[in-house]
Amino acid sequence: MENKRDYYEVLGVPKTATEEEIKKAYKKLAKQYHPDLNPDSKTAEEKFKELNEAYDVLSDPQKRAGYDQFGHAGANGNFDPNAFGGGGFGGAGAGGFGDIFDMFFGGGMGGAQAQPNAPQRGSDLRMDVTIEFTEAATGVEKDIEVVRLATCATCGGNGAEPGSRPITCPQCNGTGRIRVGQGNSFFQFQTVKPCPRCQGKGTIIEKPCKSCDGSGRVRQEKKLHIKIPAGVDTGSRLRMQSEGEAGPNGGPAGDLYIYIKVKPHKIFKRNEDDILCDYEISFTQAALGDEVEVPTLEGKVALNIPEGTQSGTTFRLRGRGFPRLRGYGRGDQHVKIKVVTPTHLNAEQKELLRQLDKNYQKDKKDGGDKEKGKGFFGNIFNN
Ligand SMILES: [Zn+2]
Ligand SMILES: [Zn+2]
Repeated sequence: MENKRDYYEVLGVPKTATEEEIKKAYKKLAKQYHPDLNPDSKTAEEKFKELNEAYDVLSDPQKRAGYDQFGHAGANGNFDPNAFGGGGFGGAGAGGFGDIFDMFFGGGMGGAQAQPNAPQRGSDLRMDVTIEFTEAATGVEKDIEVVRLATCATCGGNGAEPGSRPITCPQCNGTGRIRVGQGNSFFQFQTVKPCPRCQGKGTIIEKPCKSCDGSGRVRQEKKLHIKIPAGVDTGSRLRMQSEGEAGPNGGPAGDLYIYIKVKPHKIFKRNEDDILCDYEISFTQAALGDEVEVPTLEGKVALNIPEGTQSGTTFRLRGRGFPRLRGYGRGDQHVKIKVVTPTHLNAEQKELLRQLDKNYQKDKKDGGDKEKGKGFFGNIFNN
């Protein structure tokens, strides 16, 4: 907004000036700055414009009342004290919540508010909820406890002891602002300040409500039942509408945001909607093939290991992954085979293996195998 001069100052009249005085002052100054009399003066032209604007407002009782209450913003003639303001912003950014809470999106409006008594939206709250890996896959319902500022039930939020009401501040007549003037009867330099009596609220409470000390809001613990859908991941966010803090002056409540954190699993890893896991088999299982039981989210399922499976081979279990949060069906589970090299073999076992390897080398030589010289074990443990 442009930086406008105070209209009373422009006309050189006190704030208490009558309509007649305003008219007189205008006529006198209009003559002085009229463009016809100052053809080449840019300053005079600007002054004349400013003068007309000031007169337009101060000569109209409704516009003048609006201007007196809200300054230039209220000078459009549509002054309606009840309709003015109405903030969509969160309230004060006062902290002081437990570890799991922090306030955001609120953060105060900074500076003077258009209408101190206008209802304001309450602050949003954040709560972090940690769930198990398997709960993320199946979805889970939880009871949580939220600590928040709620509307005081004793006073209904107005901060006054039941039976009494907040009264209009006599010092500022409910505007929450006062004008501090300096100068003489011709030149008034006025600044607008928050009213010291009501701290800018426009109302004062003579008998504060005992439950909330006159603030209209109380700290409240509320149990909430939440449903976390299947497929969520760390960073997923649920919004609980109107479960945030109560709004000052009877404004709507903010929202509660639940941030999901998923604990790591000791076997499974997640890659988007797929599950990854390693599965260990012995070198004989790898060589001869086997049917094994692999863990999945729903328990063990059979997996056929074909003869000659190499370490590092990945098998896919279709539809054993996470439900897709957006979309249909489920991801897959990828099982990566790890062939375990035997340790602590006894002398007899070692001898058997040596014979096996010798036999294998001979086989290859006879058959002209491409992988000549690599040996039985080299073939299996190629990873
Ligand atoms: Zn109360
Ligand atoms: Zn006041």
